[in-house]
Amino acid sequence: MEALKARDAIYQITRAMENIRRGGDLPNSNTRPKSTVSSDPILNDQYYRDLSPKDQNRDQKEEIKSSFLGSVLGKIWSLPTTLIGLTWGLIGVPFGARIGFGNNAIEFKDHPFMSKTGAITIGNTIAYGEHTGPEFVGDHERQHTYQAEALGPLYLPAHLFEGLEALINDGSWHGESNDLESGPMDPDPKPW
Ligand SMILES: [Zn+2]
Repeated sequence: MEALKARDAIYQITRAMENIRRGGDLPNSNTRPKSTVSSDPILNDQYYRDLSPKDQNRDQKEEIKSSFLGSVLGKIWSLPTTLIGLTWGLIGVPFGARIGFGNNAIEFKDHPFMSKTGAITIGNTIAYGEHTGPEFVGDHERQHTYQAEALGPLYLPAHLFEGLEALINDGSWHGESNDLESGPMDPDPKPW
C-alpha cells in the first residue's frame, strides 16, 4: 500500500512537471484511474496519451513542444541528472568522444566506453557509441531528455525501476512493460 502511495506521489509530481514543461498544455485530470493504480507502472496510464486537442491535431512529425519557461525550469529540475551525464560524457572526451549540441542535449558522439551501437540519455546529455549517432537514434533519445525534464532527480531511479521490471517481465530492458521506452520507441517518438 505504501509503495502504491509512493508511486502515486511520484506520478503526480511528474505530471505536474510535465505540465509546467509544456506551459500548461496537459489536460486537466488530476486523479489516476483507480482501476490502474494497483497494476500500472509509474507512468503507464491514459493521461500522457489523452493529449490535449492541440496535441491530437498536431502534425505527425511535430513535437509535443516545451514552452520556453517550461524548458528552462525543466533543465534546472534535471540538472542533478545532467551533471551525472556530463561526467559520463566528459570521461570519454580524452579518449575520442566529441562534444556537440543537439536533440535538447549536450551530445557526446563516438563515446569510447559505450557499446558501439548504444546510446544513453542522462538528463540533458546524450552519449552515443561509435557506430550510432543523432542521425540514427536522436529522435528517440531526445524524448528521454523531455522525460528527464519532467522527472528531475527521479529520472534515473524511474528508468532503473522500469528497465528492471521489463527485464524480468519481458526479458529485455526495452520490453513492452518499460513505460519509459514505449513512447520514445513509437514510430512517431514521444516522451510518454
Ligand atoms: Zn530509450
